[in-house]
Amino acid sequence: MDEAFILVVDDQMNTIETLGEVLGDEHDVHFALSAEQALSHIDRKLPELILLDIMMPEVDGFKFCEIIKSKLETRDIPIIFISSLSSPEQETRGLEAGAVDYIIKPFNASIVRARVHNHLELKRTKDLLRVLSQTDVLTGMANRRRLFELLDQVQDRSLRLTQPLSILLIDVDSFKQYNDLYGHISGDVCLQRVAGVIQSSLRSVTDVAARYGGEEFCCVLENADQELAIQIAERIRSSIEALQIPHLNSAVTTCVTASIGVATSSAASRIQHAQLLMNADKALYAAKDQGRNQVRHASVNLL
Ligand code: GH3
Ligand code: MG
Ligand code: MG
Repeated sequence: MDEAFILVVDDQMNTIETLGEVLGDEHDVHFALSAEQALSHIDRKLPELILLDIMMPEVDGFKFCEIIKSKLETRDIPIIFISSLSSPEQETRGLEAGAVDYIIKPFNASIVRARVHNHLELKRTKDLLRVLSQTDVLTGMANRRRLFELLDQVQDRSLRLTQPLSILLIDVDSFKQYNDLYGHISGDVCLQRVAGVIQSSLRSVTDVAARYGGEEFCCVLENADQELAIQIAERIRSSIEALQIPHLNSAVTTCVTASIGVATSSAASRIQHAQLLMNADKALYAAKDQGRNQVRHASVNLL
């Protein structure tokens, strides 16, 4: 197993030293003598696992566990209580607070090592499953499930910060004919290349691209008004055309192109994301209708 960043939170120096000896050969073990110190460690870097004492001055282990489990960024970090409190009630309380395990002091070194190993493995498998469930296999982009989660988050943030939000629906033109002429495998490669230029045409921090389905992609552009969204869409459209992937059966030209529908929810409006997608879809339909290989915005006259 690869070395993991483990945080030991205990106010007793001798426990910290012993756990350092037990786990230090295999893992990157860091220590905190109080909940406060632990939180500042976690702010700097998220540990893969926390070993947590219960009896500590000020914030005790149960309270600390509650804090970790209440925050979105930290709630998936597995916590193992290591405590001299040995009653079934205390152990139950620890497990019900969300800890994955409870080890009673004095502990046996090889049992601690084995339990840490097992919980790290479980955590890594869970993380991998989460990524797989959110990723499109062909392009490596966010999939439709992830897109809807992201849209919810971005929409909440946009409303809170009164920022505009735009989305793009991108559909490859005459793609059925592309598959018919060049075969499905070439079609897959084409989609991967299109996905690549979509990703690289976006602003790196604020924008997210997802595979919406088949040969359709969706980009979520946070804090982008109509003008900026059209500019980004145009950059994507021209980059796809610039790939110059031959397509001799295209209804548009001799290479692969795409049509893009854009919709914006202004800072003041409260458009639900289903409506935003519907608006972008109407704009996409208009782009197809008017000859493809173009960007259309769902401005009022389209809706
Ligand atoms: P338009 O210009 O109106 O968008 O026409 P189109 O041919 O692109 O649209 P249509 O919806 O008729 O066809 C989409 C095609 O995309 C049909 C389907 O076989 C193909 N497709 C969908 N997903 C994949 C995929 O993962 N790989 C490949 N190779 N083709 C795919
Ligand atoms: Mg389509
Ligand atoms: Mg298409």
